[in-house]
Amino acid sequence: MALAALAAMAVLAIAAVPAAAADFPPQDSLYHSYAEMVSEIHAVEAAHPDIVHVFSIGKSYQGRDIWAAKISDKVATDEPEPEIMFDALHHAREHLTVEQALYLFHLLVDNYGTDTQITNLVDSREIWIIFAVNPDGFVYDLTCTNSSHPPYCAWRKNRQPNAGTSAIGTDLNRNYDYSWGCCGGSSSNPASITYRGPRALSAPEVRALRAFVVSRVVGGVQQIKAHITFHTNGQLILWPYGHTKTDIPADMTVWDHQVFVAFGKAMAARNGYKPMQSSDLYITDGDQIDWMYGRERIFSYTWELYPPETPTVWGDHYPPDEKIAPATSHNRSALLYFLTVGACPYSVTGLSKLNCGPFFDDMEISRGWKVNPDGTDTATSGRFVRGDPAPTSVGGVRMQLDRPYSGRYGFITGLPAGSTANSYDLDGRTTIQSVPIALPASPGLLSFRYSFAHGSSSVSDSLKVFVEDETATRALVWSKFGTASTVAASWIRATVDVSAWSGQTIRVVVQATDGGHDSLIEAGIDDVRVERPT
Ligand SMILES: [Zn+2]
Repeated sequence: MALAALAAMAVLAIAAVPAAAADFPPQDSLYHSYAEMVSEIHAVEAAHPDIVHVFSIGKSYQGRDIWAAKISDKVATDEPEPEIMFDALHHAREHLTVEQALYLFHLLVDNYGTDTQITNLVDSREIWIIFAVNPDGFVYDLTCTNSSHPPYCAWRKNRQPNAGTSAIGTDLNRNYDYSWGCCGGSSSNPASITYRGPRALSAPEVRALRAFVVSRVVGGVQQIKAHITFHTNGQLILWPYGHTKTDIPADMTVWDHQVFVAFGKAMAARNGYKPMQSSDLYITDGDQIDWMYGRERIFSYTWELYPPETPTVWGDHYPPDEKIAPATSHNRSALLYFLTVGACPYSVTGLSKLNCGPFFDDMEISRGWKVNPDGTDTATSGRFVRGDPAPTSVGGVRMQLDRPYSGRYGFITGLPAGSTANSYDLDGRTTIQSVPIALPASPGLLSFRYSFAHGSSSVSDSLKVFVEDETATRALVWSKFGTASTVAASWIRATVDVSAWSGQTIRVVVQATDGGHDSLIEAGIDDVRVERPT
């Protein structure tokens, strides 16, 4: 908040006392110090070992643990349940965020078994809370005796030294490896409060958080569906992107943007915060929510907590401790709503049947498809590649479309343009195979979008879809064959009944073939799903 004013703060010479005794002053004693936070979360785990597992996702620069908790039934088991993540204190002086994380922790644990809604949420989801991403800054911020508000330092960054300068610290929320330093939303000056670091992921705290999120990709599928990072202040709900003013840039699908807006507004209706795109506040680059969505497709929000905007850093970030309880409990219904809907954020726009079944791949990020899985493909050109198709036409007939059905990427035969090793036209056979998909007892349809354009073709040319069972036996479930007449490219929806494989784990296999004389063949696949049953 008020970054210009805060930048002036950062250049004040602030003397530090040893960090060992870092604690809040008596008038703010209801806030948890880092040490009190650590003992609190371990005490909760000891009292509720059936639903709480406390662990460290890694170490800070100075070697402190970045503590996290998993809250779920059968907490020791990685169940196939949707996962929802929260974190706090990227920025050291935003102490109320730790209190919000601890409030949420207690809300879930203390009411388990008595409150039906909360019990159901804990039973049906795996919930992750990372309590303080920046423990070094957390401790340091309570050590400044020369400050105008001792012991507070108004510190924001981590405590990592920078080469060639006495200026300390990197802004952890500008250090992620998505659009890092791209767009004027961070500083290259190590003395700045928004210093982005010498390179993306230079901060160990960011590497630890990133590694944790990536570790939740199981079987090619990111398990974390929704996420909130708590910051202060201003009572805002922010969604990606922060690095651009464009609402829907190329790497965001229209339906994801619709979810971000509708879900954000629905949360805001429950806590009175103001919902907006992150960049409408100000441009940020290398920040966490952009990375969470841009790289992992998680519906990720920043909540800027109480208080409202004030003219000073002290008013913005240091509400008196009697405000902790009302400010954190104020968010009870919005948090429970987020946990409810976060299992399938697409439900807010009516797309849960399509996009929240056992499998959904819009092809925008890599979700584990193997090209040439058997090693027997014969394609000499035009192999399947996940990418952005470039338009081609022959005799005025569109063979390859200029875009996939949704977003920016699909699996297309022949990318990129002009590559002699892999030109547009398919020659031979090319195959892709999905990750394993666990079908429920009564699965919905297998559905996908395809384009199959051809000229000078015959029945020797084809686009085929197979279902592969647990014994690697493949059944042909759908096919299109070439014809003598030219067929132009277009994205068409196809569906397949896969109820014969109910309760089994399958893979989807797609195969395009130019099999006879050399025809012109262009195929594409996008938006592969196993839908929820009707
Ligand atoms: Zn912040």
